[in-house]
Amino acid sequence: MESKGSILNIVMFPWLAHGHVSPFLELAKRLEKRNLTIHLCSTEVILNSIKKKISENDYPFLHFIEIKLPFNPELPPHHHTTSGLPPHLNYTLMRALDMASPYFSTILKQVKPDLVIYDIHQPWAPEVAASLSIPAVMFHTTSLSILYYGFHMNLKQGVEFPYPELNPQGSYFTKKVQKMFETLPAEDNFEERTPSHFSYLRSSEIVLTKTFREVEEGYVDYTSSLLGKKVIITGPLVTNPVEDDIIVETDSTVKLVIKWLDMKEKASTVLVSFGSECYLSREEREEMAYGLEQSNVNFIWVIRFPMNEKIISIEESIPEGFLKRVGERGLVIDKWVPQVKILTHTSIGGFISHCGWGSLTEAMGFGVPIIAVPVQYDQPINAKVIVKAGAGAEIYRDEEGGLNRLEIARVIKEVVLEDAGKEIRKKAREMKEKLVIEGDDQEIDVVVKELVRICSKHNSS
Ligand code: UDP
Repeated sequence: MESKGSILNIVMFPWLAHGHVSPFLELAKRLEKRNLTIHLCSTEVILNSIKKKISENDYPFLHFIEIKLPFNPELPPHHHTTSGLPPHLNYTLMRALDMASPYFSTILKQVKPDLVIYDIHQPWAPEVAASLSIPAVMFHTTSLSILYYGFHMNLKQGVEFPYPELNPQGSYFTKKVQKMFETLPAEDNFEERTPSHFSYLRSSEIVLTKTFREVEEGYVDYTSSLLGKKVIITGPLVTNPVEDDIIVETDSTVKLVIKWLDMKEKASTVLVSFGSECYLSREEREEMAYGLEQSNVNFIWVIRFPMNEKIISIEESIPEGFLKRVGERGLVIDKWVPQVKILTHTSIGGFISHCGWGSLTEAMGFGVPIIAVPVQYDQPINAKVIVKAGAGAEIYRDEEGGLNRLEIARVIKEVVLEDAGKEIRKKAREMKEKLVIEGDDQEIDVVVKELVRICSKHNSS
């Protein structure tokens, strides 16, 4: 393993979800380029998927270390990731990783890093590191807003939330988000689990957070005061679209998608995608289908199902005759697509997204207006963040959480085609220009400086 000349030796340990691994990997690449040696620790199935995308020659000081989970018949090795994991096994996977903590300790003893960078669902990782006298820093991979929203709800009950514009839309999401903060600690309080919010509190002096100034700078001080730690912004950490070229070249379906996009007019098409672990119900799929049909815009719709759902074909999952009626105007795919590559295609004029933070930062980074359809977790708050930033509009749900085809068609038309969406399209373009011109070099310099400072202080204490 190469590490010569490196200023720091770091173990990075993301939660086992694509939306977490991806920002950890992007941060790892940037730190490696600044002469830090990185050991990215994850399960075999996740490391195999990463290795397909990056060349070791480009990152000689970026190494991969496998962590093995204890045997559990419910969790075969291909389920050591949330991607495609039946949702009821999410907690089982979390527990399995908790139980791998002795293995993580062995890894730290072997690598002897100067520092550990860990994720929210491993609140025990800083404890393991501390037992070996290694400092540890938490990396928060989603919006800053959900962080201070959650902490406000937990710590300041009865005190008015200072940013009411970020309250989730309607009573359906308000209840859902509140429940998340009520039930998360309760669920985590199962005797054997340490509550996840300890992850923030156990971080050494700072918390790293994947966001960018244009969108969330105004909330940094408030969050720092809530956490009692300095919040350090990493920038958007978006993947370079060139890295998706391997999939485009080697996968025939993906090749067809790009060819199909090549034939469409500029900014005429929306990408519809709900990330790596979020699935629409049958009713939601039906409304989405009719909404897309009535919007009259072109679309690529990525429909995915959890591995345990017995869906035989795409046709079965959407209204009868839909594909025939939309004809050349629409493409429906049930597999992984190179999202970054698609978002950078000139034919894309909008992105119907579940508002996973990874997807939103990619859309903002590439200047694609967002049509927000949040589903769960942090997504209702993330949707508000982008609406407030002016980079998108939200499709409202009814009080029971139902989607409505007319509302879907209305918002798509507004954002992609009509005069009413002009400002959103302009704002999306401006964000891209800002991010392309400024990049994230400045933020990463600050991150490196802080990490070096923490390690030096630790070594001299
Ligand atoms: N993604 C992709 N192809 C797909 C689905 C998702 O490349 O077919 C990528 C997407 O570009 C993003 C990540 O997966 O980087 C999803 O992260 P996000 O935070 O948006 O959502 P999550 O999957 O965590 O809900």
